Amino acid sequence: MVKAYCVTCKEKGVEMKDPVIEKTSRGGYIAKGLCSKCGKTKMCAMMSEDNAKKAIESGEAKKGF
Ligand SMILES: [Zn+2]
Repeated sequence: MVKAYCVTCKEKGVEMKDPVIEKTSRGGYIAKGLCSKCGKTKMCAMMSEDNAKKAIESGEAKKGF
């Protein structure tokens, strides 16, 4: 499960809906998706390479790079 902070719900650790993991220009990984609580707020979270690959392999997140 990919979690992030939602600025609308003002809550940390909210599950991300349909997360897509992208690579940043600096070689990091970032997950982007919608807040599963309010369903309208875009969220993003930095991820380690390990966590990014695990999330993609398990099908929790889509590979966007
Ligand atoms: Zn929200």
